[in-house]
Amino acid sequence: MEKKQFQAESKRLLEMMINSIYTKKEIFLRELISNASDAIDKIYYKALTDDSLTFDKDQYYIKIIPNKENRTLTVLDTGIGMTKEELGTNLGTIAKSGSLSFKKEHEMKDGFDIIGQFGVGFYAAFMVSDVVTVKSKAFGENQAYEWQSEGTEGYTISPCDKADVGTEVILKLKENTEDDNFDEFLEEWRLKEIVKKYSDFIRYPIKMDVTKHKPKEEGSDEYVEYKEEEIINSMVPIWRKNKNELTDDDYINFYNEKRYGFDKPLKHIHLSVDGTVRYQAILYIPERAPYDYYTPEYEKGLELYSNGVLIMGKSPDLLPDYFSFVKGMVDSEDLSLNISREMLQHDRQLKFIAKNIKNKIKRELELMLKNEREKYETFYKAFGRQLKFGVYSDFGANKDILQDLLMFYSSKEKKLVTLDEYVSRMAEDQKYIYYATGESIDRIEKLPQTELVLEKGYEILYLTEDIDEFAIKMLVKYKEKEFRSVSGDDLGIETEDESKENESQEEENKEMFAYMKEVLGDKVKSVKASKRLKTHPVCFSTEGEITIEMEKVINSMPN
Ligand code: ADP
Ligand code: MG
Repeated sequence: MEKKQFQAESKRLLEMMINSIYTKKEIFLRELISNASDAIDKIYYKALTDDSLTFDKDQYYIKIIPNKENRTLTVLDTGIGMTKEELGTNLGTIAKSGSLSFKKEHEMKDGFDIIGQFGVGFYAAFMVSDVVTVKSKAFGENQAYEWQSEGTEGYTISPCDKADVGTEVILKLKENTEDDNFDEFLEEWRLKEIVKKYSDFIRYPIKMDVTKHKPKEEGSDEYVEYKEEEIINSMVPIWRKNKNELTDDDYINFYNEKRYGFDKPLKHIHLSVDGTVRYQAILYIPERAPYDYYTPEYEKGLELYSNGVLIMGKSPDLLPDYFSFVKGMVDSEDLSLNISREMLQHDRQLKFIAKNIKNKIKRELELMLKNEREKYETFYKAFGRQLKFGVYSDFGANKDILQDLLMFYSSKEKKLVTLDEYVSRMAEDQKYIYYATGESIDRIEKLPQTELVLEKGYEILYLTEDIDEFAIKMLVKYKEKEFRSVSGDDLGIETEDESKENESQEEENKEMFAYMKEVLGDKVKSVKASKRLKTHPVCFSTEGEITIEMEKVINSMPN
């Protein structure tokens, strides 16, 4: 038996691996299971491409075997196995991925979910073990071999007995220390938990003999322990499952597992579309905006899977900017795996899916607004600004999609109202939708310009955010009713009498106004008699399209 040294680089890397790459020790199991799944994928692939082989799915599985007496944990698979050489190259060289080579060599396409690519996962086993033994019998070989290592010092390879093709990775677990508990990796409940967390969608069964209890004899109060083999992963991804089988908690767990956000999502949308383009999607409307949401650093996008295989962590093309807060994933079997990213962006199927998703999100938000007002307000507080940006940007191209989702503070209701609600309450003689802008509700309420409109009994929308008025201007009108700023020129309120009175006032005070204009100079364009003041002696108003608030925003923009 010869003892081989790890290569020097490998040695250093291995130390790093063991001590610092992973923050959680439990992921060693994910890595070993992933390798086992890859090994089964490979033999499955061989069977598909080799007529002399058949692949009976039932024969292929992964098994986890904790043994408390020996303090060992074994991960067994019935995959393709490793030859003596492969044990040396694949496990003896860090960053050497036999799986990646296999995938490249065979140009594996759709339907295969080879996970390995970095060639480091296996070493995670040393985070929890003193000794790692790998017994493997490669497909097509008669002799099995055993690879063994105690960590950085190197490894040995020797012949061993093993009847079936496949691999067994046997971990001799470390003794508990003050800080670390390794015993837990022998506990069934804990192993189940880890598998569920990381490896639930591995498509081959992960089995374990689970301890159960039954009465010693029929009718007896005494119970005896026995073991029963169970499959502990669900194999089918949540999005392939039927909605009826899933609870709200399942969706929330998925959201958390996927780290889509740290909040609790307000809503989930589960789509399973079986039309010209088939796809499944789980989308979430978060409750809170991520800290970087309104910054250029925020990246929108959905996870994109092709037939269960993740091909893009964040596909931006699946979401319009105005719905950039949506989180989730899309899986479609109609996307071709081999296309490059650039092509994917112009992919017809992808465009189709994106359009579909956009409409579903819109619909869901409308339903929320209609049926779950409070929830919608929570949503709107977090993301309303984005919707308003959406109305304004692209020259208003999306205003039809978004206008019914907007809300503004109402002078009448003292809360957020929709444009539809405003219009449906309008007085018969009211021509316009009135709005007033300012830094805060308080400030707006004190504006002299609001007096006349309020006195008329009309409702005013109070706009407090920079973007509000830009969005309103872009809309121009809603349900044939034009928007009017209360500080604009023409409020469309005066009666003919009032108009005449105004003219005479204008005449009478002509000289005074001229003098005031002279004193104020360029600071104002003109000084006029106002018909809208009630208790305030004077106010500013604007001529034309731009209000004072908008001017402020424009002036504060970088040139
Ligand atoms: P990766 O999985 O990223 O390739 P690993 O360090 O996890 O890297 O594994 C290194 C290589 O060892 C794999 O690519 C594969 O060739 C081989 N290997 C590991 N575990 C097994 C197994 N259970 N059966 C067959 N080959 C394996
Ligand atoms: Mg791996």
